Amino acid sequence: MLNFQLSSQQQKLQKKAREFSLKEILPVAWYYDEIDETPLPVLKKAYEAGLINGDIPKKYGGKGWGLIEAVVITEEFAAACPGLATSIFDNSLGMEPLALSKNEALKKKYFAKIQDDFKLICFATSEPTMGSDVAGIRCKAERDGDDYILNGTKYWITNGGIADSMSIFATVDPDSQHEGICAFLVERDWPGVSIGRRIPKLGQRGSNTVGINLKDVRVPKENVMAPPGEGFVLAMQTFARTRPAIGAFAVGTARSAMEFATDYAKKRRAFGTKIANFQAIQHKIAEMYQKVETSRLLVWKAAWEADNNMDPTISASIAKFYSTETALEVANEALQIFGGYGYTKMFPIEKLLRDARLYRIYEGTSEVQRYIVSGYAMNAYQPVMPPLEDLPIHREKNPAEMEDKDAATWRCRICGYVHYGDDPPDECPYCFFPKSAFKKV
Ligand SMILES: Cc1cc2nc3c(=O)[nH]c(=O)nc-3n(C[C@H](O)[C@H](O)[C@H](O)COP(=O)(O)OP(=O)(O)OC[C@H]3O[C@@H](n4cnc5c(N)ncnc54)[C@H](O)[C@@H]3O)c2cc1C
Repeated sequence: MLNFQLSSQQQKLQKKAREFSLKEILPVAWYYDEIDETPLPVLKKAYEAGLINGDIPKKYGGKGWGLIEAVVITEEFAAACPGLATSIFDNSLGMEPLALSKNEALKKKYFAKIQDDFKLICFATSEPTMGSDVAGIRCKAERDGDDYILNGTKYWITNGGIADSMSIFATVDPDSQHEGICAFLVERDWPGVSIGRRIPKLGQRGSNTVGINLKDVRVPKENVMAPPGEGFVLAMQTFARTRPAIGAFAVGTARSAMEFATDYAKKRRAFGTKIANFQAIQHKIAEMYQKVETSRLLVWKAAWEADNNMDPTISASIAKFYSTETALEVANEALQIFGGYGYTKMFPIEKLLRDARLYRIYEGTSEVQRYIVSGYAMNAYQPVMPPLEDLPIHREKNPAEMEDKDAATWRCRICGYVHYGDDPPDECPYCFFPKSAFKKV
């Protein structure tokens, strides 16, 4: 049965995340944006409040939350600060390949570590010369006995500078594309791991983003998450499960922009009245609200599919590119409602706009999501309608009233003309194509 109601458990979680966001994240969001730093104490408080790592499966001693829980709490975090939300959610991203991997011993070991103590884990597919094209990974994994030796640089890694461990994707052969990709769980203090300077960014400055260099890093066989040939699929499966949360970031960000703009519109006066009384402003608010609501529906649907053992890949991509693009539109229109003040750092909108800009880029750009969805729509999707050439369009005769119901129907494949009779005409009377252009339908 279709149901959009959160369970009482999920509502409690939403309330808890909302209270945490208002009390712990919102008051410090602008300060950490200004100083371009990730507040570890806030991440630690989220851990202590039980608001991160909830997705560790029950089998390994975790809470076993589903993606619905993840998107519900992520929306709340992002509503207070998109950058901190990215850092808080990053443990889920870092742990997802581990959760999906077949290495049971590794799961037992690291899930316990991450759960029992405040430990951060990051996720690394991207490199300085590659982001969208995951099959183009160049970071090299070389076999040495049972171990692997890693050499290369991962780039853009969220929480890379503060994480204790990292899910690293590499390749045994850069020329073999998908087939060479493998994945490893690497600890930050292993010899050969170095962390680059914090990358200066437009927005989401409360989240740490760095490059990670791996120089002759020895990974024991126990830490292989995916052997060569299985890493690419593991990365794609990870994204299918984490993209709904990126959508939830966008929903939270857009929701705040809408709320702030509505509040402002109800107070700001122009031409002798509140600007909320102008239809132009009301329409903007209606569209903002519509975008927040539609985005949330798509995000929840993708999360629901994942929680119900369906493949969420397509729904996750749709949710990701729809909600991230609408979030940017909402933040932009919110800024317009604020007029000049929207452009200042005294009000919250400019930060939300800067922060929202990232959503269209990380975890697969909008272009990549369109590529995934169009591939599905054009190939795997099963249409209900017959192919055009089999579609008789009876413009000139009502088939129900035709005298000779057995008369064959011919359709010109070029211009669509429908002819009735035992044989097709020698020539189409509309486009003049010969008989061979006709197909019996
Ligand atoms: C702040 C931040 C945090 C990040 N965090 C992480 C992280 O934690 N872990 C991680 O692994 N990565 C992370 N990333 C990297 C992010 O996932 C990549 O930036 C993203 O996937 C795009 O890759 P790229 O930047 O190399 O762009 P490119 O892949 O070089 O793409 C450049 C442009 O070309 C377009 N393009 C590429 N291929 C196609 C195509 N086939 N069709 C149409 N257009 C195409 C892209 O859409 C884009 O517009 C982060 C990035 C940022 C900015």
